[in-house]
Amino acid sequence: MKIICIGRNYAEHAKELNNDVPTEPVIFMKPKNALLLPDKPLYYPEFTDDLQYECELVVKICKNGKYIQEKFARKYYNEVTVGLDFTARDLQQKQKNKGLPWEIAKAFDGSAALGEWRTITPEMNLDDLNFQLKLNDETVQSGRTKDMIFNINKIIEYVSGFFTLNIGDVIYTGTPAGVGSLNVYDTLEGYLENEKLLEVKIR
Ligand code: MG
Repeated sequence: MKIICIGRNYAEHAKELNNDVPTEPVIFMKPKNALLLPDKPLYYPEFTDDLQYECELVVKICKNGKYIQEKFARKYYNEVTVGLDFTARDLQQKQKNKGLPWEIAKAFDGSAALGEWRTITPEMNLDDLNFQLKLNDETVQSGRTKDMIFNINKIIEYVSGFFTLNIGDVIYTGTPAGVGSLNVYDTLEGYLENEKLLEVKIR
């Protein structure tokens, strides 16, 4: 499986990190080892002093495809959840300053948490889903998919122009504003349409 991530897909978040709003999706990937096993804590990595959370809507690919057009993209995913794209922000900033790849800051073990999957129903309006992240019971991020710069179908068209999408691949669709730093003993809870799907403890 592939873990594909989209960066800077919400204008307010791009601004909070002093990035330009992109004209094409920003893509990076994480290896399978990045998946945080369900109900396991994330141990604060020793190589960073600024571990941050990014809560994102995540979709799961259910059909193999390449060069998928936007208008057919909806057939290629059937489940959705919230996930966390954990980031070593200090390392990422160093890499960005040098124009180097982000993997050490974004793709380390445990850096990809996933909530319980929900099958997409006809009643779900994918263009206007809301999701939230609570840090120690306080809401720190609140996203609406209508604020995405590139919607899910556009992301699938773009990504599949470079990489074949396979059944089981997951796509993190970017984080809204409100990212922030974590400490040992923090608890994160992710909600989709007010239903809690994800909990991660930092240890
Ligand atoms: Mg992210």
